Amino acid sequence: MSKNVQDLDGLVEAFEVYPTSNPTPPGERAAELAAPRFGTVFTDHMSRITWRKDSGWQDRRVVEYGPLALDPAAAVLHYAQEIFEGLKAYRHADGSIWTFRPEANAARFQRSAKRLALPELSTDDFIGSLAALVRKDIEWVPSADGFSLYLRPFMYASESFLGVRSSHEVEYLVIASPVGSYFADGVKPVSIWIAQDYHRAGKGGTGSAKCGGNYAASLLPQIEAYEQGCEQVAFLDDVTDTYLEELGGMNLFVVRSDGTVETPELTGTILEGVTRSSILQLARDRGHEVVERRISLAELLAGLRDGSVSEVFACGTAAVITPIGRFKGVNFDEVVSGGAAGELTMALREELTGIQTGKVEDRYGWLTRLA
Ligand SMILES: *Cc1c(COP(=O)(O)O)cnc(C)c1O
Repeated sequence: MSKNVQDLDGLVEAFEVYPTSNPTPPGERAAELAAPRFGTVFTDHMSRITWRKDSGWQDRRVVEYGPLALDPAAAVLHYAQEIFEGLKAYRHADGSIWTFRPEANAARFQRSAKRLALPELSTDDFIGSLAALVRKDIEWVPSADGFSLYLRPFMYASESFLGVRSSHEVEYLVIASPVGSYFADGVKPVSIWIAQDYHRAGKGGTGSAKCGGNYAASLLPQIEAYEQGCEQVAFLDDVTDTYLEELGGMNLFVVRSDGTVETPELTGTILEGVTRSSILQLARDRGHEVVERRISLAELLAGLRDGSVSEVFACGTAAVITPIGRFKGVNFDEVVSGGAAGELTMALREELTGIQTGKVEDRYGWLTRLA
């Protein structure tokens, strides 16, 4: 089912490699890989492709990681025409490097581009750019259990022009940062603040696109969550202020005591997570009834009080699956599963990370070998 590593050779060859003359010394790299500082330390190179309105995608290359030149009038700085993706590269026991469902990320990147009036990047270029970077910086893929190399593809409007229209010049890049085990100190359920005065996304807006602007909008409510003693913020729908949508960067799941697994249906204001879609499949395979529907906050709170909701968790590529132990809002404060991680939550987490790291059979051909 899984693709052969040879399949990607042609895609990778489209990228010209310009190696850095100043690579990180092996000792320094080993120290970083032993205790990764996610999002702070990056590998030696980055993939890059340039787009021009009149000539399309060009100059596929792998270059030294470093600062970008940006004109102060670059459109992205003023009108936030930007999108991104997030996925991981995993080192398997035999040393081979794999990634998880990259076609799904490529397709989502295309949908996000369309919504932000950016040019669509082909799935071949998307996957080729990941493989080209990982092959160049292969020594940066950690081997410790639960560790991986986080890949961050992104695209932005680089044209210097203050007029309001879609940019005629666009840059696409992939950068990579080693990441450690999310639950290094053991699994700890997170507390969630239900945003009161803010929404992440609005009807007809950009909620289903993975764009930086959505994250900018979630930062103030996230501060509010901290002030309320919570670690994360969750948002309700903007039209009725009734239905659960998602966190700033993770989807939500509710497990009922009868085993039913539920997640808010995609209504246009929720980001369609690759982790979300994988969990729907894995839960179905385990024989659970799986339902995508509107779930009201009132219903969730009632279910927590009468015991008909037994587990709640959040999911996304970065943390995979995170148990939720508490929901707090203006006039409620409810504990989930007695504040402990749920059984199904942890079983799904184990299975999904098992598939990603090659310890559990890849039944659906979700893995692509990068190197
Ligand atoms: C990226 C993201 C997710 C999770 O998506 P995955 O593909 O599972 O990583 C969920 N919600 C938002 C808003 C996101 O940006």
